[in-house]
Amino acid sequence: MAIDNASLLIAIASSSAALMAALLIGWQNSRDEKYLGLGAAGIGLIVISITIMSLRSGAYDFTIQFVPFFLLISGISLIYAGSRQFRIPDGSYRVPAFTWAAAVVMLAIPFVAGYSGIGTIVLNCIGAIYMMLCAWENWRGRQEAPIALVANAVLYTAVASSFVAAAAVLVIDGRAVLDAPPDNWAEHFNLIMSLVGLTGIGAITLTLHHARAAGRHRHEANTDSLTGVLNRRALFAQFPEDSIVPDLVVAMFDLDHFKQINDRRGHAAGDIVLQSFARVLRAETRGADFAARLGGEEFCVVFPGLDREAAYAISERIRAAFAAKAIPTGHENGVATVSVGVASGGDGETFTSLLSRADAALYKAKRDGRNQVQLAALRLVA
Ligand code: GH3
Ligand code: MG
Ligand code: MG
Repeated sequence: MAIDNASLLIAIASSSAALMAALLIGWQNSRDEKYLGLGAAGIGLIVISITIMSLRSGAYDFTIQFVPFFLLISGISLIYAGSRQFRIPDGSYRVPAFTWAAAVVMLAIPFVAGYSGIGTIVLNCIGAIYMMLCAWENWRGRQEAPIALVANAVLYTAVASSFVAAAAVLVIDGRAVLDAPPDNWAEHFNLIMSLVGLTGIGAITLTLHHARAAGRHRHEANTDSLTGVLNRRALFAQFPEDSIVPDLVVAMFDLDHFKQINDRRGHAAGDIVLQSFARVLRAETRGADFAARLGGEEFCVVFPGLDREAAYAISERIRAAFAAKAIPTGHENGVATVSVGVASGGDGETFTSLLSRADAALYKAKRDGRNQVQLAALRLVA
């Protein structure tokens, strides 16, 4: 069965229009995901371009070619801008804007000079370059979702190869001026690959959007919104209360005279002190440690794989670094400090029991004058 260009163009235009609607709905739901808006706008321009191409009556003059080609290149460049935006959400638009301007100038020169054949070759080359740039962006960002992003890169490369084929056939043909739209196997291959590519990449992009949204919700559900460290729920999800933790070391932190800071300097200032302390916790702990806010001005750090002496040393560093910030408490010349209790798990000990022994050590630190670290005695096995 022979497939004609016009049917392929109509198939691409209609499937693209549906894809554009899906991306727009996604963007409507999360405006921060600019790549969805850029992708939708890009596909919109491509739909208009393809609609014009499918309506052409066989004439191949400047207006009927340059206008849809200009829209096509502009649409593809928006898709490229979207690929970059996906990888670098706050990135600038300078590179996409510059490549778009360069592409339009390169495309216009042969058409203005009357060489529609060369112009069509240039169009296919620009299409191939853009597809490879999109593939490259997806490949570079593959760490976030390897299968989906590598699949996107492969699809972009396949579409790029079909643009190369379309250009190559025209080059071999060797005509600088065309009197009708090109109609050969490479054109069909290019249109089919564009259809497959757009549909596949569009669907994958929507799943990436959902995966990103799910990841963000998971992160928000596990994070304390004021300080950015883990919240209580996340800590206990990692270490259930009745889990047996014979080798674990934990430190409990409670800011000293925090009520006084709130009373004298206001609740907002108190919040800033909590954020400051959380920054110290993040700076002084390793990636493998779990730092969490248990509530109010109480924090906890779990140190997997460390012994009690090492955990004690880190806790002491945290205490000293926080005191060194010299945050005024509002009371005479007082500065904000923290008291710490460190405990290590014994045979058959549960996480709850370990925390309560660290808490007991913390209250010894409070009784003994605050701004200090106390190490709990080893657990006696009954
Ligand atoms: P101590 O040295 O014995 O620990 O004294 P303290 O004043 O720190 O102890 P206390 O537990 O009595 O006070 C904790 C205060 O923390 C009381 C509460 O108003 C305040 N607090 C709890 N959550 C927040 C919060 O999210 N922001 C602010 N600014 N204050 C909070
Ligand atoms: Mg407290
Ligand atoms: Mg306190």
